[in-house]
Amino acid sequence: MNPPPTFTHPRLRREAKTIQVMTALYCRDLHHPPAGTLCADCQELQEYALQRLQRCPFQEDKSTCAKCRVHCYQPALRERVRVMMRYAGPRMLRRHPILAVLHLLDGLRPAPEPAARRAPKT
Ligand code: SF4
Ligand SMILES: [Zn+2]
Repeated sequence: MNPPPTFTHPRLRREAKTIQVMTALYCRDLHHPPAGTLCADCQELQEYALQRLQRCPFQEDKSTCAKCRVHCYQPALRERVRVMMRYAGPRMLRRHPILAVLHLLDGLRPAPEPAARRAPKT
């Protein structure tokens, strides 16, 4: 599972991969799609999260979206991502420990000030 080629910075490529892995884990466990696919709802959710990441005004300086002071997600999709991550997060430690630990470390970074927004460059 490779992140979309639009992500050039390693930090953003890793975050894109984390989104993909967490969505796949959640969907596989709860929605049982055919192997290697996502159900339509999870596909939509993943595409939306990757699009938000691509357009993130903080780019590689971002913290995790959960800590963000701007939060660019539509409320309904933010809630869907929160539910997905709450399920997948603890299970990532066992199934994808390196990605899980790096994501936890990302969450320790201070969220940038809203004034630090800049144009996306991915
Ligand atoms: S603006 Fe905030 S919520 Fe949106 S992608 Fe960037 S860090 Fe995540
Ligand atoms: Zn699904």
